[in-house]
Amino acid sequence: MLQQGSKLYSIFHQKCPRCHQGDFYVYKNPFRWKNKLTIHDHCPHCKLKYMIEPSFFYGAMYVSYAVTVAMAVTFFIIGYWIGLDLLYNLIGIVVLLVLSNSFVMRISRLIYINMFVSYDKKYSNY
Ligand SMILES: [Zn+2]
Repeated sequence: MLQQGSKLYSIFHQKCPRCHQGDFYVYKNPFRWKNKLTIHDHCPHCKLKYMIEPSFFYGAMYVSYAVTVAMAVTFFIIGYWIGLDLLYNLIGIVVLLVLSNSFVMRISRLIYINMFVSYDKKYSNY
């Protein structure tokens, strides 16, 4: 499922969506606050231009919203299931979303570009 060639590989290993070899982000650390969303202009391996069109990654906001809502609902259901008080459940959701903010923003960009660019084996081996 997370093998090279699947979109999940590109998303969770933060690799180029076309070749799955080149890094997508300049810095691997998602908690490097100032540069956490700095991406390469082109893939270092296959030269795919990451910014497909101007303001391309604005669409990642909608992906980020969906991921955040899914995480919050999942946390709420688990908290409700184990009998967590409603206030503590809410506090837990806020803490979860604040701590995972950098990770969600980076993953959302990768999910978004993977909607438009597919893996191509001929670019991964040269
Ligand atoms: Zn590439």
